[in-house]
Amino acid sequence: MGFKLPDYQVTQLPNPSVSPRLRGEPGREIFPYYQALRTHWGPQNWWPADSPLEVIVGAYLTQNTNWNNVEKAIANLKQAKALSIKALREIPLSRLQKLIRPSGYFRQKAKKLKTFIRYLDKQYAGSLNRMFAQPTGKLRAELLALNGVGPETADSILLYAGNHHVFVVDAYTRRVFERHGLITAKTKYAEIREMVEGAFDVAGSSLGTTPVVQEALKTTAKKEDTAGISESSSSGQSDRSPRHPVSPRHPVSKMSATPRTELAQQYNELHALIVRVGNQHCRKTAKCEECPLRTFLPAESLEAKIHAQ
Ligand code: SF4
Repeated sequence: MGFKLPDYQVTQLPNPSVSPRLRGEPGREIFPYYQALRTHWGPQNWWPADSPLEVIVGAYLTQNTNWNNVEKAIANLKQAKALSIKALREIPLSRLQKLIRPSGYFRQKAKKLKTFIRYLDKQYAGSLNRMFAQPTGKLRAELLALNGVGPETADSILLYAGNHHVFVVDAYTRRVFERHGLITAKTKYAEIREMVEGAFDVAGSSLGTTPVVQEALKTTAKKEDTAGISESSSSGQSDRSPRHPVSPRHPVSKMSATPRTELAQQYNELHALIVRVGNQHCRKTAKCEECPLRTFLPAESLEAKIHAQ
């Protein structure tokens, strides 16, 4: 890349379960991954939803199933006019179960959604705006205390429904980072999230004040403009550049186009891009040859080890 990264000053103590390669210079490692992926594929238009409530419902329903099944369940809810807080409050449990059946584990998921609505009513008088106005740490703790909400679901809700500054870690994140020697199998969810957020803090305390990184982002944006990629494309079909051989998985949605801070947008994109890497390349058997992260593989020996898995 045609830019020089700044010399970062890192004040965090080394984390023993994070690879030594990351200690002291997380920005150098993670932020270029984001830049490479974003340049290669462009915006991913997450989350495919019309409202924060739809994101929340989708975050629950996507547990242990694929997105196609979630789409069918969401379509049922919309058709039945059951995708509002009032409707979810009033709908009988058995009816809700029936509507979300395509997403699997529908009995448990219906109960979990009802639990969320009860929590929202009790704590915030049924207002998502009041809920999302809470500090991130407080709200994460409250969400994690709910039945059926683990760290990935809580952070998906915080980021994609509430535009809080959090990075969502999933199984693909673990797989990619582990294969690249950035974490170990023992690294905990919160450690990975904090590691990525720390990297963006460093690269980007950045976002607004560090001219080098801003310049890098401009370069990325320029390349994307040249490639004909547009956030406002609603079809996802304008992407004809060979740099971007596959269109975005999702067309632009009301939620993907919602104004948010640059940092929230970057966390939004990075998670979506890593999911794409995992879907297309970093599968159980890694397909590194065409992967946009191939240049970040630290050593041939590591690549050989990945392919031997
Ligand atoms: S497919 Fe290979 S290059 Fe791509 S993320 Fe996985 S290990 Fe890295």
